[in-house]
Amino acid sequence: MGYDVFVVGGGPSGAVAAEDLARAGRRVALLDRAGRIKPCGGAIPPRAIRDFQIDTAMLVARITTARMISPTGRQVDIPIENGYVGMVDREHFDEYLRKRAGEAGAERLTGTFLRIERDAEGTHVVWRDKASGEERRSAARLVIGADGARSGVARAEVPGGDRIPYVIAYHEIIKAPEPSANYDPLRCDVVYDGKISPDFYGWVFPHGAHASVGMGTEVDGVDLKQATAALRESAGLTGCETLRKEGAPIPLKPLDRWDNGRDVVLAGDAAGVVAPSSGEGIYYAMVGGRVAATAAQAMLASGRARDLRLARKLFMKEHGTVFRVLRSMQDAYYRSDERRERFVSLCHDVDVQKLTFEAYMNKKLVKARPLAHVKIGIKNMAHLMRLVSPVWT
Ligand SMILES: Cc1cc2nc3c(=O)[nH]c(=O)nc-3n(C[C@H](O)[C@H](O)[C@H](O)COP(=O)(O)OP(=O)(O)OC[C@H]3O[C@@H](n4cnc5c(N)ncnc54)[C@H](O)[C@@H]3O)c2cc1C
Repeated sequence: MGYDVFVVGGGPSGAVAAEDLARAGRRVALLDRAGRIKPCGGAIPPRAIRDFQIDTAMLVARITTARMISPTGRQVDIPIENGYVGMVDREHFDEYLRKRAGEAGAERLTGTFLRIERDAEGTHVVWRDKASGEERRSAARLVIGADGARSGVARAEVPGGDRIPYVIAYHEIIKAPEPSANYDPLRCDVVYDGKISPDFYGWVFPHGAHASVGMGTEVDGVDLKQATAALRESAGLTGCETLRKEGAPIPLKPLDRWDNGRDVVLAGDAAGVVAPSSGEGIYYAMVGGRVAATAAQAMLASGRARDLRLARKLFMKEHGTVFRVLRSMQDAYYRSDERRERFVSLCHDVDVQKLTFEAYMNKKLVKARPLAHVKIGIKNMAHLMRLVSPVWT
């Protein structure tokens, strides 16, 4: 007997999709190739913890301040009021989510996705079993492609899936130093400096006993290791022991279509869904898994392939505006050191801090203070038109 849904990829998007579908009583397979830790800063907002009932034992640090650092080294500390940013280690977090899916009834398979085949009998996922090394052919009514950036499912099945633009991100996991003037285990540093990244940013994210130090860029020819070495030097972290060095692409733009109009729907990085400006993808991948599961349920119930479109529609209804705002912010401010200096200077504004953090923490653009929005809009324009200089206090 085949599966109702075959989920390819057991990262946050695939694990959530498989768990939701299994809870709804569907026959679900969750395939993951296993054996590799996803390179990731591991920052998740409170909304993720709430919406997906994440056990707080998964958090290796709770961050209460974000420090924005400008190209000239100016610093703005933004306190995170009424909460914290959670830090997870993907090595344990992803397995926790997969285990939850298994406990809900999804069948866990370990191996590598190869291709999808169709014949008179229906749709089949062909994959290589890790234990035996043999090819297997599993029948399924639907396939969820949650196999991350550079998804094999997206490339083969969904228009545009082979042309998603990416930032390449690289980080080093280091042993955390003792707390000092440079390093606070409760503070994330976000470095806007063209020497570290000409078009994105660098970061220092504490993870309890460890820390992730890294940067991203879309620009060809940037030496990611050299940029990270420069970042470590400026942050006083050169002497810390390096435990891992790893990089991976971060998609920059959600695909226009997430389904193939037949029997495949994408979720998470496979659909290009990572927030512009921040590169935040874990929460959005989990939402992507959830909406893919909802769309799959709708199609399995109705038999109508067009119901698969529901996944993108539901996601964009909730998060499309935030993605558009973040995209324009990245386009406007990540282009030169002069713009980056202005951006960090803008972060002094308490209303900017409140609005940005509300958008990050709870995924809402607050509408409560119309005058604050007008003020921020005017300041923003004044900076972009160079009518004002960056202000430092
Ligand atoms: C360096 C870096 C730092 C980042 N920092 C943050 C951060 O701090 N906060 C944040 O929110 N986001 C961050 N992101 C983004 C975030 O990691 C991703 O958006 C998120 O992991 C996407 O989840 P996903 O489930 O869609 O894909 P993934 O997490 O990539 O999961 C895909 C899964 O599919 C499996 N797979 C792939 N191909 C196959 C195959 N052929 N067969 C079987 N299985 C397969 C993989 O093993 C993997 O488990 C960062 C990304 C990078 C690269």
